[in-house]
Amino acid sequence: MEKKLPTLDASLNFEQGPIRPPSEARSLLLRFTRNCPWNKCTFCPVYNGQTFSRRSLEEIKADIDSAAEMRREIIGLSEAMGERGRVGQRVVNAVFSQPRLSHAFHNVAAWLYYDTGNVFIQDANNLVMKPETLAEALKYLREKLPEARRVTSYARSSTAAQRTVEELTMIRKAGLDRVHIGLETAYDPLLKFMKKGVTAAKQIKGGQNVKAAGMELSEYVMPGLGGKKWWREHATATAEALNQINPDFIRLRTLRVPPQIELAADVNSGAFEKLSDDEVIEEIRLFIESLEGIESYVASDHIMNLIETVSGKLPEDKPKMLAILDSYLALDEREKLLYRLGRRMGRVREPGDVDRLGLRGDLEATLERIQGQADPDEVLSEMADGMI
Ligand code: SF4
Repeated sequence: MEKKLPTLDASLNFEQGPIRPPSEARSLLLRFTRNCPWNKCTFCPVYNGQTFSRRSLEEIKADIDSAAEMRREIIGLSEAMGERGRVGQRVVNAVFSQPRLSHAFHNVAAWLYYDTGNVFIQDANNLVMKPETLAEALKYLREKLPEARRVTSYARSSTAAQRTVEELTMIRKAGLDRVHIGLETAYDPLLKFMKKGVTAAKQIKGGQNVKAAGMELSEYVMPGLGGKKWWREHATATAEALNQINPDFIRLRTLRVPPQIELAADVNSGAFEKLSDDEVIEEIRLFIESLEGIESYVASDHIMNLIETVSGKLPEDKPKMLAILDSYLALDEREKLLYRLGRRMGRVREPGDVDRLGLRGDLEATLERIQGQADPDEVLSEMADGMI
């Protein structure tokens, strides 16, 4: 007779926020604060209409306890299945086949399965927590979830600039290894126009504080944000700021303007003119070219980016990154359209993929169909917005 497996507790749950960086796709997600304490950036759709709130240490600890209990139950299930506590495909399938489990329960199972050891704490700016409270929550997390080997959070650079290096060092020692900051731009007039609520000087200080505290730092940059008016200034001022910070990672995430964000009104009124895909690539080229004297790793790992393989370690991979951008800019208009279509369909990562992956025939046929019915630029733009 087949052995009856233990039933997992479907009442277990904990709170999770709406987003995480692409690099945290296989992380456990735990929410320490809710939404964004600033929530005014005109290009940001993430926390639209949501109010910021702090969570008490007791609430956070209760969530960590729930995650720890889920972990214990999943490992118990694995043992009952003869897998000796290992969470492989069989065990994950058994978890996912149980009815009514929360999304959080599935997240814990997937986290144990992938065994990344990564935990991402949500939402937009956990450094806004009282440093001692954040440190205590991190210590508790490390104690209750022994698989946690790297803990990461989003933060605002203005808050990182307000924290002392001693406070940030205490937070790092309590268990926060890496901070993702949405720098977006370091051109002051653009920061003001986009209501980012920070100056370039504070962006630099915030980044330098995080580095001085010994944490890993990932800075997000937003190609396209300068629009037609300020694309050059945006590219060069942002690179100059990063040259002073020397973050571990520089990540590109291209601007999109969905209708629900405030910036869409500026587009409609003509106060902001969006760049074309080709102009964004020109802008990224100028930005990469202006990065000097740093050892950051550049990543283009966001689905919004037209070319995903603009990545590598500075300074040695800079020529390779520029060559990939140039290979796109050298294409004729038809080839650019084909590549852009392939990218917005999620089928290519860099220009050479169209032929390397044997996609030319398919893409040609799809492009013909689109051209027969609508303006391809508009269709490609809608496809990109649909990925948000
Ligand atoms: S600080 Fe970040 S999360 Fe908050 S509104 Fe601005 S971009 Fe969005």
